[in-house]
Amino acid sequence: MRVTAAFNRLLALSGTTVREVSFEPAQITVTVALRRRRLVCADCCYSSRARYDTRIVDSTWRHLDLGRLRLVVKARLRRLACPAHGVRTEGVPFARPESGFTRDFEDLVAWLATRMDKSAVTRLVRIAWQTVGAICQRVVVDGLDHHRLDELFEIGVDEVAWRKGHRYLTLVTDHRSGKVVWGAEGKDTATLDRFFAELGAARAARLAAVSTDMGPAFLKSVTAKAPNATVCIDPFHVVKLATDALDQVRRQVWKQLRKIDPAQAKRFKGARWVLLKRPDCLTSEQAATLRRLRRHGGAAWRAYQLKESLREVFAGDLTPSETTQLLDRWCAKASRSRLEPFVTLAGTIRKHRHGILAAIRLGVNNARVEALNNKVRLITRRAYGFHSAHAALALVMLACGPITLRLPHQQTHVRPHSG
Ligand SMILES: [Zn+2]
Repeated sequence: MRVTAAFNRLLALSGTTVREVSFEPAQITVTVALRRRRLVCADCCYSSRARYDTRIVDSTWRHLDLGRLRLVVKARLRRLACPAHGVRTEGVPFARPESGFTRDFEDLVAWLATRMDKSAVTRLVRIAWQTVGAICQRVVVDGLDHHRLDELFEIGVDEVAWRKGHRYLTLVTDHRSGKVVWGAEGKDTATLDRFFAELGAARAARLAAVSTDMGPAFLKSVTAKAPNATVCIDPFHVVKLATDALDQVRRQVWKQLRKIDPAQAKRFKGARWVLLKRPDCLTSEQAATLRRLRRHGGAAWRAYQLKESLREVFAGDLTPSETTQLLDRWCAKASRSRLEPFVTLAGTIRKHRHGILAAIRLGVNNARVEALNNKVRLITRRAYGFHSAHAALALVMLACGPITLRLPHQQTHVRPHSG
């Protein structure tokens, strides 16, 4: 087999023929020609036989590495006059518009970015993290299900920090599919209003339930824009507040202890994770620390018991009426606890009692919502290095959205503009 024919098979770039292969010390450059005569606009499906002109320089794309060498694809492209987009360089079937990488390369990078940390990805594929962000955005534009807002009945709204310094994304989740279907930068009423504007009044009217945290910003938007939806409060947000309250009590106790018994205080500080973790997730050493805390008793132990008993209320094994009863009993107990953070929390829960119980009644799967929430948080921490909210959102969509990521060897379908 001739070298050019071998590279035709090896690269599998649809719609092209390899003309020349040149080997350099650290790179292989493969010159290809497009097989099709028609010119296709890179941004729409307009095609024409009429050539505006030919570019005076070659276009290049990085493709998947070959052995230890980088592989660069080179082609001389023509330009066409698209009625909608003006004079543009023609689109190629093997790369996304405006990209310096082939689809196969970008698909691989997107797949890796959802599974590996930042330094592993950048070191393996030898591109900057910012470039990974730009690739994620292009893959999402290309692959996100366009009908993802069509059949929404029960949704969740949540905010997540994508960067230090209070930079947030608002995310909308389809509870039925367990996927993130929409997102935007910001976390106020106007941010969520943008989602409802995109959804439109007809689809918003079909929403039966919207779950959210207890913040007023989202509640305001939901109440105004989803008239038929029952507003629910996700129980895991309630449990999260109890964990925060416990942490406050723990800090107060530790501060007092430090004054009277510094050695004991030092041990107590290390107990933080023991108190905040679920008891069934503790290591045997942590479980021993927990037993010591129990013997020690006092405010921290009472706070721990309150947090754990609230978590059990929402464990998912109770009927709605049992949950109601236990939640009310918990609020009464917390109000009497003389632990100020828990007294405040009891007040917050009473205020949102209706919404919290609606989530139980409608059977919004709390464990699944929480699992997705944790996954989103893990992914956005990885996105901290991105400079744009769009890139962070793209990474969330790749990992948690309605999109199918395929690796180059899994590509079976015929790509757009191929042939
Ligand atoms: Zn066009």
